[in-house]
Amino acid sequence: MQTWNIGEVKITKVVEMEQMWPGSAVIPDANSAALLEHDWILGPFADRENGRIRLSFHAFCIEIGDEKIVVDTCAGNDKTRPNFAALGNLDTDFMHKMTEAGFGPDDVTAVICTHLHVDHVGWNTQLRNGVWQPTFPKARYLFGETEWAHWRVEPQIYGDVVGDSIQPCIDAGLAELVQSDMQLNDAIWLEPTPGHTPGHHSVCISSGGQDAIITGDLCHHPIQFEFPHWSSEPDVDKPAAISMRRRFAERYCDDHTLILGTHFGGPSCGYLRSVGNSWWLDSTGFADINDNFSNG
Ligand SMILES: [Zn+2]
Repeated sequence: MQTWNIGEVKITKVVEMEQMWPGSAVIPDANSAALLEHDWILGPFADRENGRIRLSFHAFCIEIGDEKIVVDTCAGNDKTRPNFAALGNLDTDFMHKMTEAGFGPDDVTAVICTHLHVDHVGWNTQLRNGVWQPTFPKARYLFGETEWAHWRVEPQIYGDVVGDSIQPCIDAGLAELVQSDMQLNDAIWLEPTPGHTPGHHSVCISSGGQDAIITGDLCHHPIQFEFPHWSSEPDVDKPAAISMRRRFAERYCDDHTLILGTHFGGPSCGYLRSVGNSWWLDSTGFADINDNFSNG
């Protein structure tokens, strides 16, 4: 499993699934011809033969002191997901790998959802005896207050995501509604990055003079740093998401902050570098980890 050390903080990536996707399935402008024009910038984040993007669904698991924090819980097993076949009725070994990584059900002290989309809340719950129950019974589940206010009334097009993955945590008394700039401890805090969804936040990690930030879905693929105006199909407010990507890239480019991409495949990370009037993600020197990767 891929790990990073940021000062005293250890981060482990646990992959639910990773596949090559047609870029335009997620980012309409990212068709294969458009992608192949940018061969050098794609690095390990795409199939540079036929112009598909490498998309990963993974959790970033953070250890600091006695705290074990899971950032985003992927799609989950056994969930009915009409209109999103790739995420429906999954039967993966994700929790086995989580346990191997030291993040078994009773180990986790907090769950952070960068936002409440279907592929970020799935393992919040597991089906036990026909009932959706919190996967991590000892954890605080931190949901953005603005985010929850939006999704609790929004029509659900991918099945009963609220009912099977969020409400059971609230009913169990484990959920806390938090502000998008919440400070969890000395090393970890949330940073508001709205646009993709109204209450979207990223997760900042700082320890021992080292820094990292977990993007969430402010961008789905590093190509969107070169082309911030290439919207992701599920961006709720596309102009706001475009401007958010630009501000994010301006702030973190040519800096020591490690960018950890929530859907970036392969090495899933890099440093933002400016190139002309735009940016690219330099992943030189980071391993290309392939667990659960399928090229299908
Ligand atoms: Zn996502």
